[in-house]
Amino acid sequence: MAAQAEIVAKLSDNFEKARSSGDLLFFPSSLHTHSENGVEFQIRLCPALQDKPRLPTPDFGPDAPPPEEQEKKRPDPFAPPYNANLFLGEVRDEAEGNEYVILFNKFSVVPHHFMLVTKEFRSQTSPLLPADLVQTYLFLVAAKKAGRKFFAFYNCGDLSGASQPHKHVQFLPLDDDGPPVERLARSTKLDHDSRPFSITTLPYANHVRRLPSSLAFSSPDELEPVLADAFLSTLDLAIQTVRHDASYPAGAPSFNVLLTLEHLHVVPRRHETHVLAGTGEKLSVNALGFAGMLLVKSERELAAVKEEGVGNILRGVALEGGLEATTDAHRVADDQLQ
Ligand code: AMP
Repeated sequence: MAAQAEIVAKLSDNFEKARSSGDLLFFPSSLHTHSENGVEFQIRLCPALQDKPRLPTPDFGPDAPPPEEQEKKRPDPFAPPYNANLFLGEVRDEAEGNEYVILFNKFSVVPHHFMLVTKEFRSQTSPLLPADLVQTYLFLVAAKKAGRKFFAFYNCGDLSGASQPHKHVQFLPLDDDGPPVERLARSTKLDHDSRPFSITTLPYANHVRRLPSSLAFSSPDELEPVLADAFLSTLDLAIQTVRHDASYPAGAPSFNVLLTLEHLHVVPRRHETHVLAGTGEKLSVNALGFAGMLLVKSERELAAVKEEGVGNILRGVALEGGLEATTDAHRVADDQLQ
């Protein structure tokens, strides 16, 4: 059995062991659906998270020491020695030789939330490498073969909602047929499946690539060019979106990535948090928000999110859409200059 399949097969038993050992903290929550613009957003209310230790966002700013130096100063939970109850195994990308460890998320709101972590320290500000994408996709395929559905997400950069500077891709199980936003991607009719597109009903810039339906049956060697191309083409558009925002902060752009068996989504980020009009408090948003799944810590916050609208909140922490039109306009302007 492939390493990914072995790890998926032991998620249930190991999760119970980790939880009963006390090394994994499970925070119960209730799920609330909220319909807006044809999207059934999921808002998870988890009051116990108010007690979760708060980790400062790593300093990725222009004058900040490099992430490797910051990592030396504060303990890295993703470095060895690994907690035996959170450790699920290791995988190695045969083509590139990159090694990864698989760990449970210590603070779990959804059972079986696990992470693919680079074995050597790599920065969370760095884009996903082809090997990262291949290993991530292999876990989604292994889960599907085991009769389970997962999706993966990556929070890249200081405005993306990441709390750990050590590179990690996260995996969450799904009860139904995809995170809410994935359903919109699936129902988008395309003339050319191999070109990036945007879900235009979403009120923020988003860049998506549909993956070939045969991809789940492909070998790692076949996966690599397809996933790398899908990521580079959507990342390129995300960077163009950022470049056209004159007030975007200096430094490496932040973005969120969602990966399902069918699509790869990249959403450039402008802010990490949104100040809720109803409470005056900050709500941190990461890739899960852009999957259509927000996390709130109180009934008050839940009411404020519904009142303000999930679309408005997401637009507040992302960038304006309509890049395709903007890009074409710039292209015309560039042509005229030549
Ligand atoms: P992010 O906040 O997206 O950077 O994801 C990092 C995740 O790591 C968070 O969801 C934390 O709950 C989780 N985490 C923090 N400390 C540990 C730890 N010691 N072991 C495993 N997961 C952790």
